[in-house]
Amino acid sequence: MSDGGSFERLLDLQEHDTRIDQLNHQRATLPERETLAAVQASLTELDRMAAGVQAKRDAAGRDQKRREDEVAGLEAKLGDLNNSMYSSGVTSPRELQTMQEEIDALQRQRRGIEDEIIELMEYVEPLDEQLSAANEQRAALDVDAQASLGRLTEQEVVIDRELKAVEGERDAIAVDVPADVMDMYEDLRRSFAGLGIVRLEHGICGGCHLALPRAEVDRLKHLAPDVPVHCEECGRLLVR
Ligand SMILES: [Zn+2]
Repeated sequence: MSDGGSFERLLDLQEHDTRIDQLNHQRATLPERETLAAVQASLTELDRMAAGVQAKRDAAGRDQKRREDEVAGLEAKLGDLNNSMYSSGVTSPRELQTMQEEIDALQRQRRGIEDEIIELMEYVEPLDEQLSAANEQRAALDVDAQASLGRLTEQEVVIDRELKAVEGERDAIAVDVPADVMDMYEDLRRSFAGLGIVRLEHGICGGCHLALPRAEVDRLKHLAPDVPVHCEECGRLLVR
C-alpha cells in the first residue's frame, strides 16, 4: 500500500462487491421464486394424487376386462349348449333336463358377473371424474407456473443486467490493485461477512456504526493516510 489512493480504490472495490453481493442475494430470494416453487409443489402433489387414482382406475379397468372375457366365455358355452339341445338330436328328457340345468347355471353365473361389471363401472365413474378434474387443475397450474416463470425470468434479466454492469466496473477497479493488497482485501471480506473495508466519517465507523473515542480520532488525524487503521470495535479497515 503506497498511498491513500489505494485505500480509496479498495473502498470503491468494496462498494462494488457489496452491491454485487446485494444483487446476488436479491436474485436468490426473489419472491417470485417462492411463488413458482409453491406452484410446482402443488403440481407435484396433484400428480401424486392423480397417479394414485389412475392406478385404482387401471386396476378396475383390468378387472372389468377380465369379467367381460368371462362373460364372453360363458356366452360361447351357452351358445354351444343351445346348439347341442336344439340341433344335435338329443331326445332323452333326462339329458335335455341336465342340459337345461346347465344352461340355467351358466346364465346365473353370467348375471352375477354382469352385476360385478356394473358395480365396477359405478366404482370407476367417480375416479374418472377425479382424473378429469385433476387434468383441469393441472392445466390451470401449468398456466400459473408459466406466468410465474415468465415474471421470474424478467426480474432475473433486470438483475443480471445490473450485475454485469457492476461486475464490469468492479473488474476495471480491481485490475489496478496489486495482488498482495487484493489478498488482504479478500481476507478482510471473508473475516467480516463481505464488508471488510469501510469509511470513517465524522468519527463513526461505516461498518459497526460506533463512534471512535475522541482521542483515537485525534490520533488518526496525525497519521499518514497510507497507514492502515482498524476500527477498535469491529476490526474493519477504516478509510479516512
Ligand atoms: Zn467498526
